[in-house]
Amino acid sequence: MNDDDQSDRRKYEFRKVIEELTEYSGSGTQLVSIYVPSDRQISDIVAHVTQEHSEASNIKSKQTRTAVQDALTSIKDRLRYYDNPPENGMVLFSGAIDAGGGQTDMVTKVLEHPPQPIESFIYHCDSAFLTEPLEEMLGDKGLFGLIVLDRREANVGWLKGKRVEPVKSASSLVPGKQRKGGQSAQRFARLRLEAIDNFYQEVAEMADDLFVPKRHEMDGVLVGGPSPTKDEFLDGEYLHHELQDLVLGKFDVSYTDESGLSDLVDAASDVLAETEMMKDKSQMDEFFKELHQGELATYGFESTRQNLMMGAVDRLLLSEDLRQDVVTYVCENDHEQREVIDRRKNTPDHECEQCGDVVTAEAATREDIIEHLIDIAEQRGTETKLISTDFEEGEQLMNAFGGIAGILRYSTGI
Ligand SMILES: [Zn+2]
Repeated sequence: MNDDDQSDRRKYEFRKVIEELTEYSGSGTQLVSIYVPSDRQISDIVAHVTQEHSEASNIKSKQTRTAVQDALTSIKDRLRYYDNPPENGMVLFSGAIDAGGGQTDMVTKVLEHPPQPIESFIYHCDSAFLTEPLEEMLGDKGLFGLIVLDRREANVGWLKGKRVEPVKSASSLVPGKQRKGGQSAQRFARLRLEAIDNFYQEVAEMADDLFVPKRHEMDGVLVGGPSPTKDEFLDGEYLHHELQDLVLGKFDVSYTDESGLSDLVDAASDVLAETEMMKDKSQMDEFFKELHQGELATYGFESTRQNLMMGAVDRLLLSEDLRQDVVTYVCENDHEQREVIDRRKNTPDHECEQCGDVVTAEAATREDIIEHLIDIAEQRGTETKLISTDFEEGEQLMNAFGGIAGILRYSTGI
């Protein structure tokens, strides 16, 4: 399994939990969300929760007070299972949610292994769970190299998903435009150009050192700065030629310190969204090409699953909009059958197609369809790609092919 599969899977599991959490609402401020970075001590968090618990005794409404205190107690109970926060931190949600008909249900969820590290501690108590920081992590995927520069300073870093990571900086000794008295104008201009050239070389070396080892995993390089610096830097081809080929564009950015890296990402948002979509689109283009002219396309739950089981699927293409479960029934004669049902529907009983034995809902196993397929894919060394519906072919995957397709390693005739 490569990192990409792992992150796709985690992101999927997260997306699902987030969707579930955003559907809940509580009355008043009684839903508690706590974001814990990995470097926080669990004892600190417990102390914080204990403090909030005692402060909650001042809440006037008895119902809200009880609900908040119950939520905090439940979170404290969960925290007891941890000596330290897991890698990347964790998020805890707890509260009495509106269950309809004036009833409430107590819900507590712990999310470990977020797709990106939790950056700061958040304690949040509101009528809804706080899910935005997690949603942000699910935005763009990918790895991009960032360079911002003017003639005075430069910063390079990474964009990993939505997260900007500054890595190295340099500042130049390029003299200002004003020459000192006694220097000839010509000599001054030449020295200045030399200094600029040296600085561009230094920036390129810094970028090369960081990016070249990762160039095969990278989705692109973004360059930002004022004009004409960034243009000179790119036109002069200072970067390693393979990085030069990865440049997605140059962008106007006023600051070239660490904050400039974030400005660069903002300025490039359209290009980043496009790049992301292009990755999905190239998968779908390959699928359609095989479907129309080749033999290596499969689609629909049953066929794709069979091919997966045989180890014949190279890439599994699943729509991000799939909201289905698969129910597996095993009858008294050991016939195994599956039904795909909408996530919101109850599990139906099932009559075995081979022997007529009825398997009740209670005796069936129900699973999220994407998790079910990713599990098989992982065992067979198949890559999984979650495809958005933000472009035409992605929408077709969902609407015309049931959200499930694959590109095969070899033709199976299934
Ligand atoms: Zn049967």
